Amino acid sequence: ATPAATMVGTSIGAQHGVLFEGGDVLERVRDTDAVVFDKTGTLTRGEMTLTDAVPVSPAADGAVSAAEEEEADRGDEADEGGDATESLLAAAATAENGSEHPIAEAVVAGARERGVEPGDLDVLQNVSGKGIRARTEHGTVVVGKPALLREEDVDPEPAMETMRELESAGKTAMLVAVDGELLGVLAVADEVRESAVAAVEALRERGIAVHMITGDNERTARAVAERVGIDPERVRAGVLPEDKADAVESIQADGSRAMMVGDGVNDAPALASAFVGVAIGSGTDVAIEAADVTLMRSDPADVVKAINVSEGTLAKVK
Ligand code: ADP
Ligand code: MG
Repeated sequence: ATPAATMVGTSIGAQHGVLFEGGDVLERVRDTDAVVFDKTGTLTRGEMTLTDAVPVSPAADGAVSAAEEEEADRGDEADEGGDATESLLAAAATAENGSEHPIAEAVVAGARERGVEPGDLDVLQNVSGKGIRARTEHGTVVVGKPALLREEDVDPEPAMETMRELESAGKTAMLVAVDGELLGVLAVADEVRESAVAAVEALRERGIAVHMITGDNERTARAVAERVGIDPERVRAGVLPEDKADAVESIQADGSRAMMVGDGVNDAPALASAFVGVAIGSGTDVAIEAADVTLMRSDPADVVKAINVSEGTLAKVK
């Protein structure tokens, strides 16, 4: 771009809350032919709420009792589930009280709303992309994905059916175990940003391939993708934080020029390795620093605006 075009584009962008940084950003935004969205905090608000607390039966062969299945169906009204639900919430909230992950905040707040206060936490270990492990007054508590429980020699099977149901509804479900014993399942939900649907549609109409990458599991990822109109074959789920950049590179392997849109610390390497990196304004500073463009209004529809501004100014201002 000429200095004049860069100046005009940057200033029109800024008026719309789209901050372009660096010399050839306008060209790269214009030349983008694939957009890769992070899920949590980008397509969704990243503000999670605890929706379900479902204890599993400690019964020998791991069958979930009828009473508990009923409880699962009743979702968060299952407070007569009584002691088992309370123990499940107390253990999880105590462990999560030391973590800053949005899931952790939802679990602690949700437990408090149900009258359960977190207890004493001794040591907390974050297991990146999988969950947490903590030493607490309740014992050694593990909260997270089935793979994490298996690492602790806990068989997740008795809770898997409940987990799958919750995930198919677009919720993120986690298993909770204390001292090697599976206690149950918790689920959190996150709202899809309203304008995400229109943004995906507008991008697809322009012939841009729209992808989603997430550390969340396949079922939850697909349920969210379906809500926003992203093809299931363009969803990469269960991507560990350290593998997000590789996932972007594999999308670019066919020569695609990908714009990665993300908010989190774990998105920063992917933002840097994409043809263009776009940060959500409400995201972390690390993501904003790694990005070429920042969306001040945290609105996924501003991705389309960024492309329009770059095309418009590069075509008109020479
Ligand atoms: P994303 O890519 O969606 O931002 P992360 O990589 O931070 O997500 O986490 C991926 C998955 O790891 C979560 O969906 C959850 O299953 C599990 N997880 C991460 N942190 C926690 C936590 N504090 N408690 C329970 N589960 C967690
Ligand atoms: Mg995110």
